[in-house]
Amino acid sequence: MELIEHYQPEYVVRFAERKRACTCPACQKSAGDWPVTQLKLKNQQRDSLDAGCETAAREILLNPQAFVLHTSTTEPDSKQVFNTWDETLNQLCINLAVHPALALESSLYAIGVLLSKAQRYRDNDQCDPQELLTMGEQLSALADGGILDEQMRVLPPIEVNRVEALEQMGAMRLTLNLPAMQKMSMMLKLSELAVMEPARLQDRLRELEAGIARNTLLTDQPHILRNALIYKLYGECLPGPDADNYGDVLMSLTRMMFQLKMLCAMWREDNAQLTHDDVVALFSAWFNWQRGNVWKGANSADYTLLCGLSLI
Ligand SMILES: [Zn+2]
Repeated sequence: MELIEHYQPEYVVRFAERKRACTCPACQKSAGDWPVTQLKLKNQQRDSLDAGCETAAREILLNPQAFVLHTSTTEPDSKQVFNTWDETLNQLCINLAVHPALALESSLYAIGVLLSKAQRYRDNDQCDPQELLTMGEQLSALADGGILDEQMRVLPPIEVNRVEALEQMGAMRLTLNLPAMQKMSMMLKLSELAVMEPARLQDRLRELEAGIARNTLLTDQPHILRNALIYKLYGECLPGPDADNYGDVLMSLTRMMFQLKMLCAMWREDNAQLTHDDVVALFSAWFNWQRGNVWKGANSADYTLLCGLSLI
């Protein structure tokens, strides 16, 4: 039997080497191998962890080397093929997510441009991976030349989309592993978003955006948010074989970043600082919540791509 590539990021290896089992609330409620996950395809296998486990989230988010890949071979155990188009698109998204010349926001913008072009090829039934590779090279050159950063800066702000995304956070029900007072305050901050008047929501957005800029942990350690993005792209092979609307894919990425940043900003309103432990508790709760709340839009890919870009 032909062997296939078997990928294990550093965070999976480090998690497996731990001496004691994790006792976080999510692990206490789970059984079997959880949070270990394996994405088995006919031509490759990707190991990962569910970031709903706090120990897993710690390994995934806090280590700048978390995504160093260990490669071995294994026997195929699935009939689902990761076709060359999907595999190439996923790899190019990851390349843009880790591109050294791009800030995280510019990486998301570049992924948006890539997905928009890819959608056009797809709509025209021109799924030639070579086209994607050429586009990947062009985007990489534009990134090196600072052009993508420039384009990102002149994107027209569409605040109404951000206000709407903030309002929708009012429906989030997070299981936060935090002291009771802090937990209650976070829950109130979230649920009040669902009942705020539009004008008040706009003010609230601006308050929180100013708070994001003050979150020094995230600016001093940019790998935390970037790792969350790579984790999603790698672990779910995004856009993936099931995606028919790449706008939805971009939206799921930029919404994730928007929501994570907003959670951190809400946290900082009540607390003198945002520590690694706080990030782990907040992000892990978010990953637990999103498992049952995968975003699915109802609009065209072009429209959703535009909305997705406005959340960066
Ligand atoms: Zn755990």
